[in-house]
Amino acid sequence: MIPVADAIEIVLAQTSNLPVESIALAEAVCRVLAQDVIADTDLPPFDRAQMDGYAVRAADVAMTPTRLQIVGESAAGAGWHNEMNTGEAVRIMTGAPVPAGADAVQQVELTREVNGAGSVEILEPVETGRSIVRQAAEIKRGETVLRAGDDINAQTIATLASFGYAQVKVVRRPRVAVMATGSELVDVDQKPARDQIRDSNNYTIEAYAKLAGATVERLPLAGDHTEELKKQMAAAVERSDMLITSGGVSMGVYDFTKAALKELGAEIFFERVALRPGKPTVFARIGKTLVFGLPGNPVSVAVTFNLFARTALRAMQGSNQPTLLEETAVLGRSVKGSVERESYLPAILHTDEKGTLLAEPLKWGGSSDFVAFARATALIHVPADTKIIEKESIVTIVKLPN
Ligand code: AMP
Ligand code: MG
Repeated sequence: MIPVADAIEIVLAQTSNLPVESIALAEAVCRVLAQDVIADTDLPPFDRAQMDGYAVRAADVAMTPTRLQIVGESAAGAGWHNEMNTGEAVRIMTGAPVPAGADAVQQVELTREVNGAGSVEILEPVETGRSIVRQAAEIKRGETVLRAGDDINAQTIATLASFGYAQVKVVRRPRVAVMATGSELVDVDQKPARDQIRDSNNYTIEAYAKLAGATVERLPLAGDHTEELKKQMAAAVERSDMLITSGGVSMGVYDFTKAALKELGAEIFFERVALRPGKPTVFARIGKTLVFGLPGNPVSVAVTFNLFARTALRAMQGSNQPTLLEETAVLGRSVKGSVERESYLPAILHTDEKGTLLAEPLKWGGSSDFVAFARATALIHVPADTKIIEKESIVTIVKLPN
């Protein structure tokens, strides 16, 4: 048995970047950047009005009300490119360039246009610089604004768009094959007969793998026959970067996943992790394809996928944060640890009336209880050989991807 941190280190050591491709910006959401992003313009590119109103000289409106002559109009996309003199104002719109000679924008609500006279009454003084965002105040041309390894998501895509990245370099999506083992399994569109259950693990793994940027191929249900497992595994590794199986890795007489892997010549890096749930997790490689043999119980699948397989998928894409981000929360109820094993216990996060983030351990029936697990939003980390962590202790948590 090896500690979780050692297992993650082994996974990272066996994982290398997939090739880079260039794709259209709109297709790039949920991918990982494979290039630094450099600002090709200042932002704003010119002194920009932040309000609709009048560009003025602050000194001209120190005493109000006062009347200024309107000498032009500066609209977004069509600026007024002359010098504005004392006693003058330029009507200006949000997003428009502020003319030379003006040093403030008074918002339209604090002005009154004098009909027909071509002038405006400024009703309140305005301090120098008011409602102007100076050129390059946000970003200077040439600055690195995103780095290779950053996630492309709804927050970062505006940056890519604004600096002209119509095509973006990303690592290609990892190809994942998913295979459920177990003679008790039937497909989701089947009515289970006596002694049978529907497969859910393939769908869990597919869902999480897609969140991690992968494409997923679901293999036919494989039963518990070494030859059938070998046949499917051998075919799948030919066309996949990663094979993820579930079930068949414990000590039962029909647990053949490891036997199949060994007979296919897999190099096995670990097969037991000091983890609850998820002790019998296997990590191996056949040729260039990484193989995760996850346990069969659905909650163990969710935990071990996110600790190990997700990390490998993110690392393959060059992510600079491949592992789940560790955060802290206050424990809502005491939890028991485990001898020799660290635990990752499902929890619901919520914030109390004082603004404290609380991790409420889920009441659940163990690693088969996926219905209870559906409410979890995080996992609480309990170090190995911890008897109990008392309520209100500060604990390390990782949020479940969604
Ligand atoms: P195993 O590790 O193969 O002994 O499986 C452990 C438990 O997980 C058993 O109760 C299995 O029926 C269950 N299980 C295994 N594979 C799946 C699956 N694909 N979907 C749902 N439950 C499963
Ligand atoms: Mg089984």
